[in-house]
Amino acid sequence: MGPAEREALLSAFDSGWIAPLGPQVEAFERALAKRVGRSDAAATNSGTAALHLALRLLGVGPGDEVWLSTLTFVASATPITWLGAEPVFMDSEARTWNLDPELFAHALDCGAAIGRLPKAVIVVDIYGQCADYDPIVAACQRHGVALIEDAAESLGASYHGRPAGSFGELALVSFNGNKIATCGGGGMLVGDDPQVIARARWLASQAREDTAHYQHELGGYNYRLSNVLAGIGVAQVGRLDELVDHRRANFNHYAAELASLPGISFMPEPPGYRSTRWLTAVLLDSEQFGAGPEQVRLALDREGIESRPLWKPLHMQPLFARSRCIGGQFTEQLFARGLCLPSGSTLRGEDRDRVIQIIRACHRAARPQVFMPTEACA
Ligand SMILES: *Cc1c(COP(=O)(O)O)cnc(C)c1O
Repeated sequence: MGPAEREALLSAFDSGWIAPLGPQVEAFERALAKRVGRSDAAATNSGTAALHLALRLLGVGPGDEVWLSTLTFVASATPITWLGAEPVFMDSEARTWNLDPELFAHALDCGAAIGRLPKAVIVVDIYGQCADYDPIVAACQRHGVALIEDAAESLGASYHGRPAGSFGELALVSFNGNKIATCGGGGMLVGDDPQVIARARWLASQAREDTAHYQHELGGYNYRLSNVLAGIGVAQVGRLDELVDHRRANFNHYAAELASLPGISFMPEPPGYRSTRWLTAVLLDSEQFGAGPEQVRLALDREGIESRPLWKPLHMQPLFARSRCIGGQFTEQLFARGLCLPSGSTLRGEDRDRVIQIIRACHRAARPQVFMPTEACA
Protein backbone atom coordinates (compact mmCIF):
# COMPACT_ATOMS: atom_id res chain seq x y z
CA MET A 1 0.00 0.00 0.00
CA GLY A 2 1.25 3.46 -0.87
CA PRO A 3 0.15 7.09 -0.64
CA ALA A 4 -2.22 6.70 -3.63
CA GLU A 5 -4.12 3.93 -1.80
CA ARG A 6 -4.28 5.98 1.40
CA GLU A 7 -5.67 8.97 -0.45
CA ALA A 8 -8.23 6.86 -2.33
CA LEU A 9 -9.36 5.24 0.91
CA LEU A 10 -9.80 8.57 2.69
CA SER A 11 -11.55 10.14 -0.26
CA ALA A 12 -14.06 7.24 -0.38
CA PHE A 13 -14.54 7.62 3.38
CA ASP A 14 -15.03 11.38 3.18
CA SER A 15 -17.52 11.05 0.33
CA GLY A 16 -19.95 9.37 2.75
CA TRP A 17 -20.43 6.33 0.48
CA ILE A 18 -19.81 3.68 3.15
CA ALA A 19 -21.88 1.10 1.28
CA PRO A 20 -21.55 -1.70 -1.26
CA LEU A 21 -22.42 0.90 -3.85
CA GLY A 22 -21.00 4.24 -4.85
CA PRO A 23 -18.70 6.03 -7.27
CA GLN A 24 -15.54 4.11 -6.25
CA VAL A 25 -17.16 0.76 -7.01
CA GLU A 26 -18.11 1.98 -10.46
CA ALA A 27 -14.65 3.44 -11.06
CA PHE A 28 -13.04 0.17 -9.91
CA GLU A 29 -15.23 -1.86 -12.27
CA ARG A 30 -14.48 0.39 -15.23
CA ALA A 31 -10.74 0.45 -14.55
CA LEU A 32 -10.50 -3.31 -14.20
CA ALA A 33 -12.67 -4.11 -17.24
CA LYS A 34 -10.45 -1.82 -19.33
CA ARG A 35 -7.29 -3.36 -17.94
CA VAL A 36 -8.29 -6.91 -18.88
CA GLY A 37 -9.87 -5.97 -22.21
CA ARG A 38 -13.49 -6.70 -21.28
CA SER A 39 -16.54 -4.56 -21.82
CA ASP A 40 -17.91 -4.90 -18.29
CA ALA A 41 -17.15 -5.98 -14.72
CA ALA A 42 -19.03 -6.53 -11.46
CA ALA A 43 -17.14 -5.95 -8.21
CA THR A 44 -17.71 -8.59 -5.51
CA ASN A 45 -16.51 -9.05 -1.96
CA SER A 46 -14.26 -11.98 -2.97
CA GLY A 47 -12.96 -13.90 -5.97
CA THR A 48 -14.81 -16.95 -4.67
CA ALA A 49 -18.08 -14.99 -4.80
CA ALA A 50 -17.31 -13.97 -8.40
CA LEU A 51 -16.76 -17.62 -9.36
CA HIS A 52 -19.98 -18.67 -7.63
CA LEU A 53 -21.86 -16.02 -9.64
CA ALA A 54 -20.16 -17.09 -12.88
CA LEU A 55 -21.24 -20.69 -12.41
CA ARG A 56 -24.77 -19.69 -11.52
CA LEU A 57 -25.02 -17.34 -14.51
CA LEU A 58 -23.94 -20.19 -16.79
CA GLY A 59 -26.79 -22.29 -15.41
CA VAL A 60 -24.69 -24.83 -13.52
CA GLY A 61 -26.90 -26.90 -11.24
CA PRO A 62 -27.51 -30.31 -9.68
CA GLY A 63 -26.35 -33.21 -11.82
CA ASP A 64 -23.98 -31.10 -13.94
CA GLU A 65 -20.26 -31.71 -14.19
CA VAL A 66 -17.76 -28.85 -14.11
CA TRP A 67 -14.24 -29.70 -15.21
CA LEU A 68 -11.26 -27.87 -13.81
CA SER A 69 -7.53 -27.96 -13.24
CA THR A 70 -6.64 -30.05 -10.19
CA LEU A 71 -3.57 -27.92 -9.33
CA THR A 72 -5.30 -25.00 -7.65
CA PHE A 73 -6.62 -23.47 -4.45
CA VAL A 74 -9.77 -25.04 -3.05
CA ALA A 75 -11.83 -21.92 -3.84
CA SER A 76 -11.69 -22.85 -7.56
CA ALA A 77 -13.88 -25.87 -6.78
CA THR A 78 -16.07 -25.26 -3.72
CA PRO A 79 -18.61 -23.01 -5.51
CA ILE A 80 -19.29 -25.94 -7.89
CA THR A 81 -20.45 -28.05 -4.96
CA TRP A 82 -22.59 -25.20 -3.53
CA LEU A 83 -24.66 -25.42 -6.72
CA GLY A 84 -25.06 -29.17 -6.38
CA ALA A 85 -22.79 -29.91 -9.36
CA GLU A 86 -19.84 -32.32 -9.51
CA PRO A 87 -16.25 -31.18 -9.96
CA VAL A 88 -14.13 -33.34 -12.28
CA PHE A 89 -10.43 -32.62 -11.94
CA MET A 90 -7.79 -32.71 -14.64
CA ASP A 91 -4.02 -32.94 -14.86
CA SER A 92 -1.61 -30.17 -15.84
CA GLU A 93 0.99 -30.04 -18.60
CA ALA A 94 4.71 -29.55 -17.95
CA ARG A 95 5.05 -26.40 -20.13
CA THR A 96 2.75 -24.15 -18.11
CA TRP A 97 1.75 -26.26 -15.07
CA ASN A 98 -1.82 -25.45 -16.10
CA LEU A 99 -4.63 -27.56 -17.60
CA ASP A 100 -3.15 -29.97 -20.15
CA PRO A 101 -4.69 -28.82 -23.46
CA GLU A 102 -4.21 -32.16 -25.26
CA LEU A 103 -5.63 -34.22 -22.44
CA PHE A 104 -8.49 -31.75 -22.15
CA ALA A 105 -9.39 -31.78 -25.86
CA HIS A 106 -9.21 -35.57 -25.92
CA ALA A 107 -11.39 -35.89 -22.81
CA LEU A 108 -13.97 -33.49 -24.29
CA ASP A 109 -14.05 -35.46 -27.55
CA CYS A 110 -14.56 -38.69 -25.59
CA GLY A 111 -17.17 -37.02 -23.38
CA ALA A 112 -19.07 -35.84 -26.46
CA ALA A 113 -18.98 -39.36 -27.93
CA ILE A 114 -20.71 -40.79 -24.87
CA GLY A 115 -22.99 -37.79 -24.31
CA ARG A 116 -21.28 -36.68 -21.12
CA LEU A 117 -20.02 -33.14 -21.54
CA PRO A 118 -19.40 -30.72 -18.70
CA LYS A 119 -21.74 -27.78 -18.24
CA ALA A 120 -18.70 -25.53 -17.82
CA VAL A 121 -14.93 -25.64 -17.55
CA ILE A 122 -12.83 -23.57 -15.13
CA VAL A 123 -9.29 -22.96 -16.32
CA VAL A 124 -6.93 -21.67 -13.64
CA ASP A 125 -3.85 -19.51 -14.34
CA ILE A 126 -1.67 -20.97 -11.64
CA TYR A 127 0.95 -18.85 -9.85
CA GLY A 128 0.13 -16.06 -12.27
CA GLN A 129 0.77 -17.83 -15.56
CA CYS A 130 -1.91 -18.12 -18.23
CA ALA A 131 -2.95 -21.54 -19.46
CA ASP A 132 -2.47 -22.41 -23.14
CA TYR A 133 -5.80 -20.89 -24.18
CA ASP A 134 -5.77 -21.26 -27.98
CA PRO A 135 -6.27 -25.06 -28.04
CA ILE A 136 -8.43 -24.99 -24.88
CA VAL A 137 -10.80 -22.35 -26.29
CA ALA A 138 -10.94 -24.21 -29.63
CA ALA A 139 -11.93 -27.46 -27.89
CA CYS A 140 -14.61 -25.66 -25.84
CA GLN A 141 -16.04 -24.02 -28.95
CA ARG A 142 -16.06 -27.32 -30.85
CA HIS A 143 -18.29 -28.81 -28.16
CA GLY A 144 -20.24 -25.72 -27.07
CA VAL A 145 -18.86 -25.85 -23.52
CA ALA A 146 -18.67 -22.60 -21.54
CA LEU A 147 -15.26 -21.56 -20.24
CA ILE A 148 -14.54 -19.58 -17.05
CA GLU A 149 -11.03 -18.23 -16.54
CA ASP A 150 -9.89 -18.23 -12.90
CA ALA A 151 -7.49 -15.30 -13.11
CA ALA A 152 -7.29 -14.84 -9.33
CA GLU A 153 -3.50 -15.14 -9.42
CA SER A 154 -2.80 -13.80 -12.91
CA LEU A 155 -4.10 -10.23 -13.04
CA GLY A 156 -1.39 -8.41 -15.02
CA ALA A 157 -0.21 -11.49 -16.95
CA SER A 158 -0.53 -12.02 -20.68
CA TYR A 159 -0.72 -14.81 -23.24
CA HIS A 160 0.46 -13.97 -26.77
CA GLY A 161 -0.28 -10.31 -26.06
CA ARG A 162 -3.77 -10.90 -24.67
CA PRO A 163 -4.35 -10.07 -20.99
CA ALA A 164 -5.24 -12.57 -18.29
CA GLY A 165 -8.93 -12.14 -17.52
CA SER A 166 -9.85 -11.86 -21.20
CA PHE A 167 -10.41 -15.59 -21.83
CA GLY A 168 -13.68 -17.48 -21.75
CA GLU A 169 -17.29 -16.33 -21.42
CA LEU A 170 -16.53 -15.02 -17.95
CA ALA A 171 -13.42 -14.58 -15.82
CA LEU A 172 -12.81 -13.82 -12.19
CA VAL A 173 -10.12 -11.86 -10.45
CA SER A 174 -9.30 -11.73 -6.73
CA PHE A 175 -8.23 -8.78 -4.59
CA ASN A 176 -7.69 -10.86 -1.47
CA GLY A 177 -4.86 -9.75 0.82
CA ASN A 178 -2.44 -12.38 -0.49
CA LYS A 179 -2.86 -11.45 -4.16
CA ILE A 180 -0.68 -9.01 -6.10
CA ALA A 181 -3.23 -6.22 -6.19
CA THR A 182 -5.51 -6.16 -3.17
CA CYS A 183 -8.12 -4.09 -1.41
CA GLY A 184 -8.08 -6.21 1.73
CA GLY A 185 -10.76 -8.52 0.38
CA GLY A 186 -12.58 -8.33 -2.92
CA GLY A 187 -13.05 -9.80 -6.35
CA MET A 188 -14.35 -9.03 -9.79
CA LEU A 189 -16.39 -10.88 -12.35
CA VAL A 190 -15.57 -9.74 -15.89
CA GLY A 191 -17.23 -10.45 -19.20
CA ASP A 192 -18.29 -9.04 -22.56
CA ASP A 193 -22.06 -9.26 -22.23
CA PRO A 194 -23.34 -6.24 -20.26
CA GLN A 195 -26.63 -8.02 -19.57
CA VAL A 196 -24.87 -10.96 -17.93
CA ILE A 197 -22.74 -8.65 -15.80
CA ALA A 198 -25.81 -6.61 -14.83
CA ARG A 199 -27.46 -9.85 -13.74
CA ALA A 200 -24.37 -10.69 -11.68
CA ARG A 201 -24.71 -7.36 -9.85
CA TRP A 202 -28.38 -8.09 -9.26
CA LEU A 203 -27.73 -11.61 -7.93
CA ALA A 204 -24.94 -10.19 -5.76
CA SER A 205 -27.40 -7.73 -4.17
CA GLN A 206 -29.97 -10.30 -2.97
CA ALA A 207 -31.79 -10.46 -6.34
CA ARG A 208 -34.28 -7.82 -5.42
CA GLU A 209 -37.01 -7.18 -7.99
CA ASP A 210 -37.51 -3.69 -9.40
CA THR A 211 -40.38 -2.62 -7.15
CA ALA A 212 -40.72 -0.06 -4.35
CA HIS A 213 -41.26 -2.75 -1.75
CA TYR A 214 -38.90 -5.70 -1.25
CA GLN A 215 -40.03 -8.26 -3.80
CA HIS A 216 -38.08 -11.51 -4.43
CA GLU A 217 -38.66 -14.17 -7.03
CA LEU A 218 -35.22 -15.79 -6.93
CA GLY A 219 -32.67 -16.22 -4.17
CA GLY A 220 -29.51 -14.16 -4.50
CA TYR A 221 -26.44 -13.41 -2.40
CA ASN A 222 -24.87 -10.57 -0.47
CA TYR A 223 -21.70 -10.42 -2.56
CA ARG A 224 -21.18 -6.73 -3.39
CA LEU A 225 -17.96 -4.92 -2.56
CA SER A 226 -17.79 -1.99 -0.12
CA ASN A 227 -17.24 1.38 -1.75
CA VAL A 228 -14.46 2.13 0.77
CA LEU A 229 -12.49 -0.96 -0.26
CA ALA A 230 -13.13 -0.26 -3.94
CA GLY A 231 -11.28 3.04 -3.47
CA ILE A 232 -8.14 1.12 -2.53
CA GLY A 233 -8.72 -1.20 -5.48
CA VAL A 234 -8.77 1.65 -7.99
CA ALA A 235 -5.38 2.85 -6.76
CA GLN A 236 -3.94 -0.67 -6.82
CA VAL A 237 -5.08 -1.30 -10.40
CA GLY A 238 -3.34 1.96 -11.32
CA ARG A 239 -0.10 0.54 -9.89
CA LEU A 240 -0.54 -2.97 -11.22
CA ASP A 241 2.47 -2.94 -13.56
CA GLU A 242 4.74 -1.80 -10.74
CA LEU A 243 3.38 -4.53 -8.44
CA VAL A 244 3.85 -7.23 -11.08
CA ASP A 245 7.35 -5.99 -11.88
CA HIS A 246 8.23 -6.44 -8.22
CA ARG A 247 6.99 -10.05 -8.21
CA ARG A 248 8.93 -10.74 -11.38
CA ALA A 249 12.04 -9.17 -9.86
CA ASN A 250 11.69 -11.56 -6.89
CA PHE A 251 11.57 -14.50 -9.26
CA ASN A 252 14.46 -13.29 -11.41
CA HIS A 253 16.67 -12.66 -8.41
CA TYR A 254 16.06 -16.14 -6.98
CA ALA A 255 16.57 -17.73 -10.39
CA ALA A 256 19.81 -15.84 -11.08
CA GLU A 257 21.30 -16.99 -7.78
CA LEU A 258 19.97 -20.53 -7.52
CA ALA A 259 19.09 -21.94 -10.95
CA SER A 260 22.66 -23.10 -11.63
CA LEU A 261 22.68 -25.46 -8.64
CA PRO A 262 22.03 -29.11 -9.53
CA GLY A 263 18.57 -30.46 -8.79
CA ILE A 264 16.69 -27.15 -8.54
CA SER A 265 14.45 -25.86 -11.30
CA PHE A 266 12.08 -22.91 -11.58
CA MET A 267 8.53 -22.79 -12.90
CA PRO A 268 8.83 -22.46 -16.69
CA GLU A 269 7.51 -19.51 -18.72
CA PRO A 270 7.07 -20.53 -22.36
CA PRO A 271 7.74 -18.03 -25.18
CA GLY A 272 4.75 -15.72 -25.71
CA TYR A 273 3.71 -15.92 -22.05
CA ARG A 274 4.26 -13.28 -19.42
CA SER A 275 3.50 -14.54 -15.94
CA THR A 276 2.90 -12.28 -12.95
CA ARG A 277 5.17 -14.63 -10.95
CA TRP A 278 2.66 -14.21 -8.12
CA LEU A 279 4.71 -16.74 -6.19
CA THR A 280 8.18 -17.97 -7.08
CA ALA A 281 7.76 -21.74 -7.37
CA VAL A 282 10.71 -24.14 -7.54
CA LEU A 283 11.09 -27.90 -7.85
CA LEU A 284 13.73 -29.75 -5.88
CA ASP A 285 15.13 -33.13 -6.77
CA SER A 286 16.32 -34.27 -3.36
CA GLU A 287 18.86 -36.75 -4.83
CA GLN A 288 20.59 -34.15 -6.96
CA PHE A 289 20.05 -31.10 -4.77
CA GLY A 290 20.83 -32.91 -1.57
CA ALA A 291 17.70 -31.65 0.19
CA GLY A 292 14.02 -31.98 -0.58
CA PRO A 293 11.35 -29.28 -0.36
CA GLU A 294 10.37 -30.17 3.19
CA GLN A 295 13.97 -29.98 4.44
CA VAL A 296 14.38 -26.57 2.80
CA ARG A 297 11.04 -25.40 4.18
CA LEU A 298 12.10 -26.41 7.71
CA ALA A 299 15.51 -24.76 7.33
CA LEU A 300 13.80 -21.50 6.31
CA ASP A 301 11.25 -21.89 9.09
CA ARG A 302 14.06 -22.19 11.67
CA GLU A 303 15.12 -18.69 10.57
CA GLY A 304 11.58 -17.39 10.92
CA ILE A 305 10.98 -17.39 7.14
CA GLU A 306 7.72 -18.80 5.80
CA SER A 307 7.66 -20.87 2.63
CA ARG A 308 4.99 -23.32 1.46
CA PRO A 309 4.56 -26.47 -0.59
CA LEU A 310 2.80 -25.99 -3.95
CA TRP A 311 -1.00 -26.29 -3.99
CA LYS A 312 -1.96 -29.79 -3.00
CA PRO A 313 -3.86 -31.06 -6.05
CA LEU A 314 -7.58 -31.05 -5.31
CA HIS A 315 -8.03 -34.69 -6.31
CA MET A 316 -5.70 -35.55 -3.39
CA GLN A 317 -7.80 -33.61 -0.89
CA PRO A 318 -10.00 -35.61 1.51
CA LEU A 319 -12.80 -33.15 0.67
CA PHE A 320 -12.84 -34.47 -2.91
CA ALA A 321 -11.96 -38.10 -2.24
CA ARG A 322 -15.04 -39.22 -4.17
CA SER A 323 -14.55 -36.94 -7.18
CA ARG A 324 -13.11 -38.05 -10.50
CA CYS A 325 -9.74 -36.93 -11.81
CA ILE A 326 -8.60 -37.30 -15.41
CA GLY A 327 -4.87 -38.04 -15.17
CA GLY A 328 -3.25 -36.26 -12.24
CA GLN A 329 0.20 -37.83 -11.95
CA PHE A 330 2.04 -34.75 -13.16
CA THR A 331 0.51 -32.51 -10.49
CA GLU A 332 1.24 -35.18 -7.86
CA GLN A 333 4.92 -34.95 -8.82
CA LEU A 334 4.80 -31.16 -8.63
CA PHE A 335 3.30 -31.40 -5.16
CA ALA A 336 5.95 -33.87 -4.02
CA ARG A 337 8.83 -31.76 -5.29
CA GLY A 338 7.65 -28.16 -5.18
CA LEU A 339 8.18 -25.21 -2.87
CA CYS A 340 6.91 -21.62 -3.04
CA LEU A 341 9.52 -19.14 -1.86
CA PRO A 342 8.76 -15.86 -0.07
CA SER A 343 7.35 -13.64 -2.83
CA GLY A 344 5.63 -10.60 -1.31
CA SER A 345 5.47 -7.21 -2.99
CA THR A 346 7.39 -5.62 -0.11
CA LEU A 347 10.21 -8.17 -0.04
CA ARG A 348 13.57 -6.40 -0.26
CA GLY A 349 16.74 -7.53 -2.00
CA GLU A 350 18.42 -8.33 1.32
CA ASP A 351 15.43 -10.44 2.40
CA ARG A 352 15.77 -12.48 -0.78
CA ASP A 353 19.50 -12.79 -0.21
CA ARG A 354 18.87 -14.34 3.21
CA VAL A 355 16.51 -16.88 1.65
CA ILE A 356 19.09 -17.63 -1.05
CA GLN A 357 21.86 -18.16 1.52
CA ILE A 358 19.76 -20.61 3.52
CA ILE A 359 18.80 -22.59 0.43
CA ARG A 360 22.44 -22.69 -0.68
CA ALA A 361 23.44 -23.89 2.78
CA CYS A 362 20.90 -26.76 2.53
CA HIS A 363 22.55 -27.78 -0.72
CA ARG A 364 26.13 -27.54 0.62
CA ALA A 365 25.41 -29.32 3.91
CA ALA A 366 23.91 -32.26 2.08
CA ARG A 367 26.55 -32.58 -0.63
CA PRO A 368 28.25 -35.92 -0.15
CA GLN A 369 31.89 -35.52 0.82
CA VAL A 370 34.05 -36.59 -2.07
CA PHE A 371 36.60 -39.20 -1.02
CA MET A 372 40.08 -37.96 -1.84
CA PRO A 373 42.72 -40.67 -1.64
CA THR A 374 45.69 -39.19 0.20
CA GLU A 375 49.01 -40.58 1.19
CA ALA A 376 47.77 -40.95 4.70
CA CYS A 377 45.00 -43.21 3.49
CA ALA A 378 47.35 -45.23 1.36
C1 LIG B 1 -7.27 -16.66 -4.18
C2 LIG B 1 -7.86 -17.57 -5.19
C3 LIG B 1 -9.25 -17.69 -5.36
C4 LIG B 1 -10.25 -17.06 -4.43
O1 LIG B 1 -10.20 -15.68 -4.33
P1 LIG B 1 -10.69 -15.00 -2.95
O2 LIG B 1 -10.75 -13.55 -3.30
O3 LIG B 1 -9.70 -15.32 -1.90
O4 LIG B 1 -12.05 -15.54 -2.65
C5 LIG B 1 -9.72 -18.51 -6.37
N1 LIG B 1 -8.88 -19.17 -7.18
C6 LIG B 1 -7.54 -19.09 -7.04
C7 LIG B 1 -6.68 -19.84 -8.00
C8 LIG B 1 -6.99 -18.30 -6.03
O5 LIG B 1 -5.66 -18.26 -5.87
